[in-house]
Amino acid sequence: MSLLSVRDLTVKFAMRSQTVTALHQISFDLARGERLGIVGESGAGKSITGFALMKLLSAPGYIDSGTIQFDGTDITQAPEAQMRQIRGNRIAMVFQDPMVTLNPVLTIGQQMVETLRAHRKLSRRDAQEIALTKLREVQIAAPELRLKQYPHELSGGMRQRIIIAMALLLDPDLIIADEPTTALDVTIQADIMELLLKLCQANKVGLILITHDLGVVSQLTERTLVMYAGRIVEAGKTREIINDPQHPYTQGLINALPQQTLPGQMLKQIPGAMPVLTDIPPGCPFSPRCAFALAECRRLLPQIMQQGSSEVACHEVNRLHSDLLLEEGR
Ligand code: SF4
Ligand code: MG
Repeated sequence: MSLLSVRDLTVKFAMRSQTVTALHQISFDLARGERLGIVGESGAGKSITGFALMKLLSAPGYIDSGTIQFDGTDITQAPEAQMRQIRGNRIAMVFQDPMVTLNPVLTIGQQMVETLRAHRKLSRRDAQEIALTKLREVQIAAPELRLKQYPHELSGGMRQRIIIAMALLLDPDLIIADEPTTALDVTIQADIMELLLKLCQANKVGLILITHDLGVVSQLTERTLVMYAGRIVEAGKTREIINDPQHPYTQGLINALPQQTLPGQMLKQIPGAMPVLTDIPPGCPFSPRCAFALAECRRLLPQIMQQGSSEVACHEVNRLHSDLLLEEGR
């Protein structure tokens, strides 16, 4: 059985003059200990998906329909008291900016001990011992000293290590990491990503990694969802998505990766920009930016369909595959 099973999740935002749909019937599964990447440009609906899974959407956003089964509980129906137990204890979140998660007026030790004691019956001393163990796990220099320091006394990289230690504090089943290293230097980013991967593997923790960076997804995850304008446009094994992307948007993301560019060449960015929620084009939302767009693409929304071992939402891909099947049938 899946640890997490999301079905037809639809999130809307009630604005003053209209209600817009930010997530359109998203469905996916995550096995225990599995690592899943959610990738796409800014505005694709990745972070909204993360917040919806934690039931942390803030107004005017709300879950309109669909289910989120987490280990047998439908989170969409869970009362807030139950959600507080699930958050931290079962599902932990790591955000881009550690300052959002860390309390500036408490020492690292105080926050870790408080979090532990809010969820577990522990003496202060035992809680401190666990906090120290977790700091050692994230390989932070001088862990004893860190317990006594305030967040502003630490570097960005150290703060992010502490956030990861805090995410692991209550031995969750799943970590949702939203652009966990975007605010850091490139060299520190790689270290933190490697650490996250190692810790998830060692503790058999599932990971949902939300990022705009397909390079990071390819290093850390086993499966990938590619999102565009609030929809999943391609889903499958990460290796296959990287090596043989089907959807024109995924192909564009891969061509824009720095390692695809020869020295002296410009990065091949996808022309145009992600549409805003209030102005999604009819038919395929990617059609204004797509080099393969046909007349039907501007009229008809492509449905997500199984194509080999991946799922893809694209008329052109569907056509190519049905042609192939016809040829094979001959
Ligand atoms: Fe491009 Fe058409 Fe496929 Fe959309 S459906 S990605 S416009 S080919
Ligand atoms: Mg985001």
